[in-house]
Amino acid sequence: MKPGLDSAKNIIAIASGKGGVGKSTVTTNLAFALKEKGYSVGVIDGDIYGPSQPGLLGSNERPKAEGGFILPIEKDGVKFISMGVMNTSGKAMIMRAPLAIRALSQFLSGVLWGELDYLLIDLPPGTGDIQLTLAQQARLTGAIVVTTPQRVALEISRNGVDMFRTVNVPILGIVENMSGFSCKSCGETTPIFKTGGGEKLASTEEVAYLGAIPLDPEIMASGDEGVNLITHHKGVGPAKAFMDLADTVIKGQEAAKSDTAEPHSIEVVNGKVQIEWEAGSPKTYETFDLRFACPCANCVDENTGVQILKAEQIATDISVTRHQLVGRYGMAIHFSDGHNTGIYKFSKLKEMESGSRQDSFSV
Ligand code: ADP
Repeated sequence: MKPGLDSAKNIIAIASGKGGVGKSTVTTNLAFALKEKGYSVGVIDGDIYGPSQPGLLGSNERPKAEGGFILPIEKDGVKFISMGVMNTSGKAMIMRAPLAIRALSQFLSGVLWGELDYLLIDLPPGTGDIQLTLAQQARLTGAIVVTTPQRVALEISRNGVDMFRTVNVPILGIVENMSGFSCKSCGETTPIFKTGGGEKLASTEEVAYLGAIPLDPEIMASGDEGVNLITHHKGVGPAKAFMDLADTVIKGQEAAKSDTAEPHSIEVVNGKVQIEWEAGSPKTYETFDLRFACPCANCVDENTGVQILKAEQIATDISVTRHQLVGRYGMAIHFSDGHNTGIYKFSKLKEMESGSRQDSFSV
């Protein structure tokens, strides 16, 4: 069994601009809905400071270790890991961001998941350092932004969309949570926090609208009690919205995967980068061209886009020592002159392969 993210076919981050919009609730119920549809599912609770997945999923079991790796906890067939089950001291997690990032890195690389169809990552709210690091290190195949319909939430949700765009993670779409209250007694739906804002935001941001989840006391109660809403309500009532959401997420993820420029394989052979964009037809890149096209701020002026690096500054015998993947969208190249700060986007490398010399790879 391989540890870490290699065991997951799809890795989807669930994000929000602000806290309290129901991002963790949507993650939990989407996980249960995907499981109900027959997929193997894992959840990483990315909120180190305020983990809520143990409560929502309904398990506070302590994880075991095997061969130096963490075995995830399982609830109703959904596997998960959270700081909430690691830190059982009852005390708040007080730590600086670099330490929190280190803890998250362990969740990304040190968990023995087994084969997973979907790994969902419940990101902490906001768009800071931790969220960005996760978005890059987790090699995400997709991202979902959860919002509520009020203007203040919608405006901040835009930041989440921007963040994933910046790091080239395919945005599967926007979910509008707490979209309207359906009264069980009179049958009427009241848009307590308004309605339709999520769809409007999706349209202005040109991303998909994944659907609405109603404001429903059953959703709140199942989360509070750690009860599986989907099996409890047999896929109807409040559970149906999450089953429908699972369908749109599955479709959106498949479409996004067929759109990415991720190569079949990358190797460094005799000091040169060799990429198979399609299996069986490797393309070798001239190292001088790659070094000259380095997009980092030392080689290209960030403000003007003017090339700083001169061709004569590059050693004629320059070679590549290794490469390092960055997210699913690009890689850093380590050159024999010690330079390694440029991120080469796959889309640009692909253009370069088809002959058009690229001077800017900037993210
Ligand atoms: P976030 O992860 O965005 O901080 P949570 O998922 O913790 O938000 O949800 C905040 C609160 O709102 C919780 O008490 C949760 O049960 C409740 N909640 C979330 N979504 C709904 C919903 N659709 N209907 C009713 N209550 C909800």
